[in-house]
Amino acid sequence: KETVSKNFIEQIIEKDISEGHCGAITTRFPPEPNGYLHIGHAKSILLNYGLAQKYGGKFNLRFDDTNPTKEKTEFVESIIADVKWLGGDFEDRLFFASNYFEQMYEAAVKLIKKGKAYVCELTADQIREYRGTLTEPGKNSPYRERSVEENLRLFEEMKDGKYEDGSKVLRAKIDMASPNINMRDPIIYRIARMHHHNTGDKWCIYPMYDFAHPIEDAIEGITHSICTLEFEDHRPLYDWVVEEVGYENPPKQIEFAKLYLTNVITGKRYIKRLVEEGIVDGWDDPRLVSISALRRRGFTPESIKMFMELCGVSKSNSSVDYAMLEYCIREDLKLKKSRVMAVLDPIKLVITNYPEGQVEYVEVPNNQENEEMGTRQVPFCRELYIDREDFMIEPPKKYFRLYPGNEVRLMHAYFVTCTDYITDETGKVTEVHCTYDPETKSGSGFTGRKVKGTIHWVAQPTAVKAEVRLYENIVDEEKGVYNEDGSLNLNPNSITVLKECFVEPGVENAKAYDSFQFLRHGYFCVDAKDSEPGHLVFNRIVSLKSSYKP
Ligand code: ATP
Ligand code: MG
Ligand code: MG
Repeated sequence: KETVSKNFIEQIIEKDISEGHCGAITTRFPPEPNGYLHIGHAKSILLNYGLAQKYGGKFNLRFDDTNPTKEKTEFVESIIADVKWLGGDFEDRLFFASNYFEQMYEAAVKLIKKGKAYVCELTADQIREYRGTLTEPGKNSPYRERSVEENLRLFEEMKDGKYEDGSKVLRAKIDMASPNINMRDPIIYRIARMHHHNTGDKWCIYPMYDFAHPIEDAIEGITHSICTLEFEDHRPLYDWVVEEVGYENPPKQIEFAKLYLTNVITGKRYIKRLVEEGIVDGWDDPRLVSISALRRRGFTPESIKMFMELCGVSKSNSSVDYAMLEYCIREDLKLKKSRVMAVLDPIKLVITNYPEGQVEYVEVPNNQENEEMGTRQVPFCRELYIDREDFMIEPPKKYFRLYPGNEVRLMHAYFVTCTDYITDETGKVTEVHCTYDPETKSGSGFTGRKVKGTIHWVAQPTAVKAEVRLYENIVDEEKGVYNEDGSLNLNPNSITVLKECFVEPGVENAKAYDSFQFLRHGYFCVDAKDSEPGHLVFNRIVSLKSSYKP
């Protein structure tokens, strides 16, 4: 729908270009390095990068690292990796807001000199009280009318470490009666002795976000500063800062709606707790929707991009179903990945009339829907594995797979008829016996009779053992993400680990992030963390059944 028509941001940009307000555009993705990126951030990355691409502009990756408390180098590295992986090519345009601290300080001095900023000594509580409410105007601080000279001296002393943390702040002098509370003399600098990952202990005063962000954008020559809706009523302050500091060609802030997915956890503190309590295997646990988790699960940048295009860009908040993301990965992998046979819950199938020790090779298309992917030779012999759910002693109606007396096709091979089965003392089936009909080989043109069921298999002597992990949503979808007390509604069955699975030979050399369709089971990806040569581990990315209709 919105993929064909231009979204509202594209319309703004095209107007700005055609009216000569900007030459080439420059956009940016400005994460705070205080956590791992999630699917919501991917929207911002792809949007900003996509616009720069489309209009022949530039795209910056800028760390908004002006608040040192929660920032870590570890997050900087993971964010860079995620942005690159998504295809957000920032080339050498990697910036750190903390490199502009000096310029921000000078901008603040400039405001003081213009009589547009003052040092205030009200306590945090008093500042809040003086600020007023939505229905009541605020009142002026008693420090508001200090002289420029006194403000300059005090601000310099704040910088030089003469005052306690929190004892003074620098405020913009705007309008305590403004209907927009953000404009009621907002704080632009505070004193805080915090060690910074980039600037160390050089600074004991730090700029506030609403002051720092427009300056960062202006310094980098950002033309369109795209952010999410909650900043809409900060825009007058953004515009005030770039105007009063005096930047030519000031950047323009544009807001769009955040991407929300239904029944997923994105909140950092929740994920942190899941990690700490060992409920998930780190921030990249395949059940999470951090970018690193999606990558580990087997999602591709292309699928995430397709998803964002389907979501569109809008000004109204809405929540999108995870099934739509699943649809996109199926679409992306459908024609690209080999389709192989894998047995997840094996029982042995013995073809009693097939010669012992004989091996033949059957020709199998690598992808039935994409002939260009060619074919491969798959070994077939007397003893195979089939999936437990493909055999029943007493089948219900409409069960067309294997049961005593029934004939099915072994995919790409022969018709077999079940003659017998063996159970252990608990009644569990351990072996199924059948006979095959040599006339019925796939590709031989046999038309004598038809069967209703086709099942997959793996030849036992050459089968490659693998571990397979199946996932459900980590959230109990019936109950929603959160309980009334704010705790999470977790699904106790969100992971199933199958340790004794068998896949076709040829798959044993699969490397981290390689993915396949396991016929009839879904798409699977080699786990990058736990898989090793000789011990393959696969994550199911998605099953083949879709609940989403495009
Ligand atoms: P979170 O608290 O979930 O990490 P955030 O907004 O604090 O989100 P930032 O590091 O400040 O994270 O965000 C970097 C950029 O990503 C910002 O421009 C922000 O607007 C954007 N962003 C964050 N979450 C979403 C989302 N759900 N949808 C679209 N853009 C988002
Ligand atoms: Mg963040
Ligand atoms: Mg933030």
